[in-house]
Amino acid sequence: MSEIEHLQKELEETKKALQDREMIFNHIVESTFAGFFDWNIPENKEYLSPTFKKMFGYEDHEMESSPEAWQRIIYQEDLPKVFELFGAHVESKGKIPFDSELRYHHKDGSLVWVFCRGKVVEWDEQGNPLRMLGSHIDITNIKKSEETKLYVEKLEQKNKELQQFAYVASHDLQEPLRTIISFTELMLEQYSGNMEKNADTYLRFISDASNRMSSLVKGLLDYTRIGKNFEVSEVDTELLLQNVLIDLNTLITEKHVTFEIDSLPKIQGLDTEMSSLFMNLITNAIKYEKKGEHPLIKIGATEEMDHWKFHVEDNGIGIEKAHLKRIFLIFQRLHNKDEYAGTGIGLAHCQKIVELHGGKIWVESTPGLGSTFYFTIPK
Ligand code: ADP
Repeated sequence: MSEIEHLQKELEETKKALQDREMIFNHIVESTFAGFFDWNIPENKEYLSPTFKKMFGYEDHEMESSPEAWQRIIYQEDLPKVFELFGAHVESKGKIPFDSELRYHHKDGSLVWVFCRGKVVEWDEQGNPLRMLGSHIDITNIKKSEETKLYVEKLEQKNKELQQFAYVASHDLQEPLRTIISFTELMLEQYSGNMEKNADTYLRFISDASNRMSSLVKGLLDYTRIGKNFEVSEVDTELLLQNVLIDLNTLITEKHVTFEIDSLPKIQGLDTEMSSLFMNLITNAIKYEKKGEHPLIKIGATEEMDHWKFHVEDNGIGIEKAHLKRIFLIFQRLHNKDEYAGTGIGLAHCQKIVELHGGKIWVESTPGLGSTFYFTIPK
């Protein structure tokens, strides 16, 4: 092979290798959606890749390739940071990296977070920068999930503060309430029948109201205490339910309640809280019975993908569709105290317990026919 032929062959091979590199480069750009720029510094001319423009919603022909073009759509507050970083990068002869997270305006008005990494790749003999290359990656989704995480952390903190407030408030309210209750009882004991007729009645009102307030405050205190001693263990819900029914024995006999109970699973959970959950749902199923019919309560659980779905079904008065969500809020009641006694805390309790286990609670109901409370507990 002559020297020329040899050189030609080498040239062919280099050309092929170059084409190959270009193909790889284009593939990376297309699959990562990365944008890039090539800045001729002395002439202040800049190539902006179509992928760069696309990141902000522009077709290649809709945005010119120039430094002014990106400077128009970058957040103006972020522009000084770019110049500062470029200054530091040049000053340090490239030792300080040109890495930055910047915000741009998308064509549709939304915000685009971009991670930009640049590098001066050519310098003149005096050490002045001649050419800079850089790439951009859209990090909007990462930024958004970081923001959401921060927001969730803040919410959790606020929630803790609120819980603490509710705990302190309900705890401290108990003391003066106890004083009111014991003195009204003392007055009733000592002066009942010896006072003016109305005074007797008023005193009884005060006594009733302060006793009611005392149960509300106690309920609130119990609510703030749920899950305070967070000890997860294996809970045999069938056994647990049997014990709950033993505790409710007097009420069950008094109200002639019939139960139909399927076999129930063992779960990982909080023992006392789970008892309190069943206790609340069953006492409600008995309390909201239909006139003229004895309560029939069906309890069971089905195994689903990654959780157990429990149900407590009754044949009681049922709940109107409009109230199905509201009843889980604290102090929300659908009846006044003379119709059905209660504080409106029971179901808020249930919701907190189920959520503590990572599950959900809801109710389905037909007014006049009965309600079924469902809750899930992850496996
Ligand atoms: P309370 O029973 O003390 O009022 P809850 O938070 O346990 O408080 O219940 C909130 C409201 O939901 C009740 O006032 C009642 O109107 C309704 N409710 C709860 N359970 C049932 C049920 N099994 N059947 C019909 N209504 C119910």
